[in-house]
Amino acid sequence: MLVTNALWDLAVGRRCLACDQAGPAWCDRCLRSVVDLHERRTPFGHGVVAAARYAGQVRTAVVAYKEHGHLALAAPLGRLLAAALAEARPGGGLAGAAIVPVPSSTAATRLRGNDHARRIARQAGVRSGMTTLTALRWGRPITDQAGLTASERRHNVAGAMVASAPRKPGSAALVVDDIMTTGATVDEAFQALTSVGWRVAGVSVVAAVDARRALAPHLPLRYREGKN
Ligand SMILES: [Zn+2]
Repeated sequence: MLVTNALWDLAVGRRCLACDQAGPAWCDRCLRSVVDLHERRTPFGHGVVAAARYAGQVRTAVVAYKEHGHLALAAPLGRLLAAALAEARPGGGLAGAAIVPVPSSTAATRLRGNDHARRIARQAGVRSGMTTLTALRWGRPITDQAGLTASERRHNVAGAMVASAPRKPGSAALVVDDIMTTGATVDEAFQALTSVGWRVAGVSVVAAVDARRALAPHLPLRYREGKN
């Protein structure tokens, strides 16, 4: 099905973006079909659990949600993130851990009128029975990461994120984000949180971009969409 058709149906608000069935914007059957829990590594070697691959209907849903304001998709995207969170918590442990979303860049939030990643994080928090804390923010403006090489991405975000300290030093944080491209933003979140006393117990994302495609300059821009 063409993406444009899927978006049109979403705008009407009565058909699944993938199978075109009447009903919710992303039906249960299609949503379950994209779950593909897998682990990726950031440049600094931190493990990240992704619920799905950033392709096909997942990409359609994320673009519709982030770029076209289809906020009803926050709930199904939050369900995917909750699945990744469950995988990142071996044995369902880490009672008392807080979900800490990676902030959207200030410019991106202003443009979209809402912090899309935080909204998905709250949905996942409710499903997982965990508190969501806004403990991270950007301390300085950053450039849009799309189109940058891996080393440019690292340089772009290095030292740019600021964390507020936990009430108790050593408190566990579960970092969450929507899409992982190279993992440079996750590394920066890790650094900011641990420097003020958080223990980062896991990192989860809705979907990860195929590492081989993430930075290939000949591919269409949509393959290179990443954080901010
Ligand atoms: Zn469907």
